[in-house]
Amino acid sequence: MNLDVPTLFVVVSLMSLVMGLWICVMAWGQSPEDPRWAWAWSLGAFTCAQLLFGAGNLMSPRWAVTANAAAYASTLVLMLLALRRFYGLMRRSFWLWSPALLAPLSAFVLFEQLRWRVFCVSLVFMVQIALILRVLLSPKLQHQGRGRFMLVAAFAFVLVILLARLVLVAGEVPINNAALGSERAVALLIVAALLGVLSNSLGFIYMIMERAERRNFELAMQDMLTGLQNRRAIADQLAMAVARARRQGQVLSVLMMDIDHFKRVNDNYGHLAGDKVLQSVAQTLQSRLREQDQIGRFGGEEFLLILPDTSLDGALTLAEDLRAAVESSPTTWEQQTIRVTISIGVWGGLISPADTADTLVGAADTAMYRAKVGGRNQVAH
Ligand code: GH3
Ligand code: MG
Ligand code: MG
Repeated sequence: MNLDVPTLFVVVSLMSLVMGLWICVMAWGQSPEDPRWAWAWSLGAFTCAQLLFGAGNLMSPRWAVTANAAAYASTLVLMLLALRRFYGLMRRSFWLWSPALLAPLSAFVLFEQLRWRVFCVSLVFMVQIALILRVLLSPKLQHQGRGRFMLVAAFAFVLVILLARLVLVAGEVPINNAALGSERAVALLIVAALLGVLSNSLGFIYMIMERAERRNFELAMQDMLTGLQNRRAIADQLAMAVARARRQGQVLSVLMMDIDHFKRVNDNYGHLAGDKVLQSVAQTLQSRLREQDQIGRFGGEEFLLILPDTSLDGALTLAEDLRAAVESSPTTWEQQTIRVTISIGVWGGLISPADTADTLVGAADTAMYRAKVGGRNQVAH
């Protein structure tokens, strides 16, 4: 296969340019701090790096090599910046840009000494990639999804390519021999660079998409005020828990909880205080549950709790524990102490053929009503 280097430069430059433009379209209308802008700029810098490399004949080779080093180092700086922004590491650091000075400086000063030049410039690039991988692999950041794995793989690939180049040049392996003509070696390098930039850009876009998808899911399933599951999510969970308990012949318990005289809290302290009480009750309840238990905000000040593999007796014990916990956990609001209590209705047992999620909620609700009529701040079943 004949790899024509000038044509390859044009193809690679055009591809990275077009990809950068598409990422601009994705970022359009977003704040300048959006990580996609930094990534689009990085592709612009990569395009420049390719063009400068290709334009080696047009300007003095020394300047072409220097400018290429500056452009490629800037590509990596901008990619690191985009990833830092993605992870919310917004602190501006001057040193982030130092490779964009260091790489061209080494290229210029060491232009005549090919081995030292390749060694120093590659070393700068490799340190940059190591910094990128450090962010991607940091245990302190919240990582999820496959986009990150694509990025890690792509950057590791580029790292290997740089290392191979370093070994070939620094080790004085004659790359001008018949088996691997220098033209072919350059062509392979360009293709490898393109593969790297295509893969990491895809990984980056996928990572952004995954996060948007996750946020949408959370918005659809999470209650904004308390952070608990919302009504739709907890209803889905209950339907699944009922089906599972029926299939496995296991017991299941459902608790309906309602804050007593909550209207008075709003009337006496204001709606914001009411919101704070809701948050603190939600937290008190959640902190006392086992991992397999599910809690959600079912209505204004009503919470639904699903206890898989739990008998009525077990559920009554836990309900009493929750009731006492809420009673003894007042909320502080503007130097005032707000005390609330909850009434709890419990349904528990084996699922009969006629039971559905709705009938269980209805039964727990009826029991809760009995607790209200019985004087509130109590558990009924
Ligand atoms: P009961 O003991 O019979 O349950 O009395 P209650 O006052 O708690 O009863 P009710 O269900 O009539 O009142 C619920 C109140 O909860 C009414 C509503 O204004 C308030 N509420 C519902 N959602 C929210 C919310 O998100 N924030 C605040 N602050 N109040 C809410
Ligand atoms: Mg109430
Ligand atoms: Mg209510």
